[in-house]
Amino acid sequence: MKLITESLAYLNEFLEMIYPSNIKCVCCEGELENKIAFNICEYCQSKIEFKPVWSSLYIEREYSQNYTEVLTVTEYNKVIRRLIYKFKYNSQTYIAREMASIMANFLEGENLSFDVIIPVPLFVAKKRKRGFNQAELLAKYLGEHIKVRHDINVLGRIKETETMHMLTKEQRRENVKGVFSVEDPTQIPLKNILLVDDIYTTGATIKECSEVLLNAGASKVTAVAFARS
Ligand SMILES: [Zn+2]
Repeated sequence: MKLITESLAYLNEFLEMIYPSNIKCVCCEGELENKIAFNICEYCQSKIEFKPVWSSLYIEREYSQNYTEVLTVTEYNKVIRRLIYKFKYNSQTYIAREMASIMANFLEGENLSFDVIIPVPLFVAKKRKRGFNQAELLAKYLGEHIKVRHDINVLGRIKETETMHMLTKEQRRENVKGVFSVEDPTQIPLKNILLVDDIYTTGATIKECSEVLLNAGASKVTAVAFARS
């Protein structure tokens, strides 16, 4: 076993020599001279507000009331916008690893435990067009960090929503009503679920997903998003 672990370590070192993961800053693409946290250069790090903020979403249900606690780890600003843009619209999916490791960094300090990580789903056509779901990638890498499995087949999105940034809080809430569906009801009852998304704005999406999961029998839903705007 030790031999395998050692061989893997050598292999990783070897791969690191041919394909160094830390040669450029993932934000500004400036050269990185030394290995640095999250592969984000000191200048870009100084422009990012890394700050964990918890908010609470009230979930009103037929027979009970619940709260979904939401953790966001950075403040949305120009640097974050650029980072997320490169990730989502320029397919620089390696950025997901760094975003997930920042999220994990803050989550690990919270001493919480989860049974499963579930990403906020994209509508099938949108995922096909983009080639990936950003929240799925974040869930995958986050799961590797915090040692919790992720499941992309539990929650589905049955229709496309209007672009939300022009809408008011109430309109956003209306916009996501009935958008999510349970695809695998066997995986939800009594589970302590961590929902993952990239950006948190009014909480309409997280609230709707939480309601669907709680109504399907989840015991608790917590959410984490990379940026709050
Ligand atoms: Zn940079």
